[in-house]
Amino acid sequence: MGLTVSNTHTLDLYNVKISALVRERYASHMKAMQLVQPGGAFHLVETPRPKPRDGEVLVKVRVCGVCRTDLHVVDGDLTDGAYPIVPGHQIVGEVVQANGVDLTPGSRVGIPWLGYTCGHCAFCTAGTENLCEAAEFTGYHRPGGFAEYTKADARFCFPLPETYDDLQVAPLLCAGLIGFRALEMTGEAVRIGFYGFGNAAHILTQIAVWQGKAVHAFTRDGDIVSQDFARGLGAIWAGGASDAPPQALDAAIIFAPVGALVPAALKQIRKGGVVVCAGIHMSDIPSFPYADLWGERTIRSVANLTRQDGRRLLELAPLAGVRTEISVYDLPDTAKALDDLRDGRIEGGAVIRVAGYA
Ligand SMILES: [Zn+2]
Ligand SMILES: [Zn+2]
Repeated sequence: MGLTVSNTHTLDLYNVKISALVRERYASHMKAMQLVQPGGAFHLVETPRPKPRDGEVLVKVRVCGVCRTDLHVVDGDLTDGAYPIVPGHQIVGEVVQANGVDLTPGSRVGIPWLGYTCGHCAFCTAGTENLCEAAEFTGYHRPGGFAEYTKADARFCFPLPETYDDLQVAPLLCAGLIGFRALEMTGEAVRIGFYGFGNAAHILTQIAVWQGKAVHAFTRDGDIVSQDFARGLGAIWAGGASDAPPQALDAAIIFAPVGALVPAALKQIRKGGVVVCAGIHMSDIPSFPYADLWGERTIRSVANLTRQDGRRLLELAPLAGVRTEISVYDLPDTAKALDDLRDGRIEGGAVIRVAGYA
């Protein structure tokens, strides 16, 4: 049976109640791109806004960069997250509520992948909080940035250099700073190779060139467009992943999630050189002759970031004059951005525009 209205007065009261309910719902909900289960559908939904606890801030998201890690989460390669997941961990937003912390509402913050560490485990106390046993990551265990609102532990938010607008700075927050951590692991290496010339490599090339290093870019075989892109950013040599550089390299960083690149890169480095694997996930590494590792060559991974890495990169990027090359997508098109990343259609980085999309 439908609604019975006895007179106009009752109808007015009814309308007032309904519009109050709509307003309340509007004020407490948001649009977000959500993943309910590993490998499941990735959809735009309306969902409650995160509620900040003590020490946390509620942030109105302006833009959020797309990272290959988001792709691994959505594709179900990484399955330890807290579902349902709103991915996205290169967040630029505006503080709208600060619970017991001195971040002023209205201030711009950057929220990176590292969302929480315990502060007292052996790794945290040794200055390697990136390895914390109880770490929580943004857009995986904690709310992410492919949403109108997110929340973050205020201690893990970065102030952002004013020289960058929201869209430009977003890719620095993961591609830039985890790439920077990987670059630091190559020590004094001068002749350096980047395997996989995407978001991280395009930022790191600019920093490495500024530091006086000789960057060698290895793209998918035959990818002339990316090779030209790399040369345009200052790489002294660019070729396919199965090509040999003119001289042996001091170090190589592998950004592409392709295990076969590890023995390929190892063949191109000199004695004592290092191959750094910078991704969170990679296909299996094929076996290779011990002779390729002999001569004190090293293979290592880089995991996550410390807040110190973030502060240093954000200080250094403006000095090095880093500019990010980006493709912009609106929030409802986030899945398309991930498809384009998966299929190698993006030069540089992709950024999702959350606030003010049409
Ligand atoms: Zn810890
Ligand atoms: Zn990332």
